[in-house]
Amino acid sequence: MQPLNRSGKLGCLLIQLPPSYRQDLTHLENFLSILPHGFRYAIEFRHKSWMHPATWKTLSKYNVANTMVDEPLLPPEVHVTADFAYLRWHGRGNRPWYDYHYSEEELREWVPKVQEAQGSVKTLYGYFNNHFHGYAVENCLRIMQMMGELSPQQEEALSIAQTHLGKGASSTFGLGRWIQDDDSRTKLIDLLTSLMGESRLARAMGIPDNDVSVGVATHDRVEAKIRAYSLMMDRDSKTISHDCGDWERSVETRQLCKHVGRVLLTIPVEVATGWADQIHEDVEKWKFKVPGKTR
Ligand SMILES: [Zn+2]
Repeated sequence: MQPLNRSGKLGCLLIQLPPSYRQDLTHLENFLSILPHGFRYAIEFRHKSWMHPATWKTLSKYNVANTMVDEPLLPPEVHVTADFAYLRWHGRGNRPWYDYHYSEEELREWVPKVQEAQGSVKTLYGYFNNHFHGYAVENCLRIMQMMGELSPQQEEALSIAQTHLGKGASSTFGLGRWIQDDDSRTKLIDLLTSLMGESRLARAMGIPDNDVSVGVATHDRVEAKIRAYSLMMDRDSKTISHDCGDWERSVETRQLCKHVGRVLLTIPVEVATGWADQIHEDVEKWKFKVPGKTR
């Protein structure tokens, strides 16, 4: 990170905590005290127990920014704890993580909050979640416009973005086809997000249809080929056997790789949801196998 930092291209490092991690101030302080100097840090809490004055006080002591969020689980509160501020707009509703477009009203609610934060800092960082439809671009520029901070060049970029969205980034094209308005896939997408993480799931969605060939896909067994790899899942023995490089790490991390994700996205939704549900229910009981290795 040093070269990036020295060249002035590194804004801030974001430390995102898991939703299950509850407030522990000693833990937090021990961690903050060993962070290398010379960087800007923002920390994103995802459990409500952290929303407490004692948390803000500890962050202030180390000049670490509390990440202010717009997301379903936490309140959209303004707490500035450093000489810079950090904001993340994740989206709203049940499954905001990939495909959320903030409305005018939703953005407008944030304008006074952003202004409040801005008043007490030198720099304010604001991020919209990485929506593949390009909503983030439009939302970012739009809220800046509402705050009267758009340069002529950005004004032009906003109008291009709006024209693009107006043409209707087709929901049947690219990654969008996985998240259609029809809700039959919602549960599967949620389970897969939890089992493999957002970015790996996005990579799974990016694998073309032609790369996948499914031999068996029942509630008891799945056999498939994907690119040069093979996948076998057996319900009775709770075994998933697969052979890509990422999978070898999965054996330790218990995260499904993109190939397993893509196969589950390919087989009938109801069958796939059953599998994802069972794995999710008790991931520790499942055997993550690499053929030819005895683990
Ligand atoms: Zn794989």
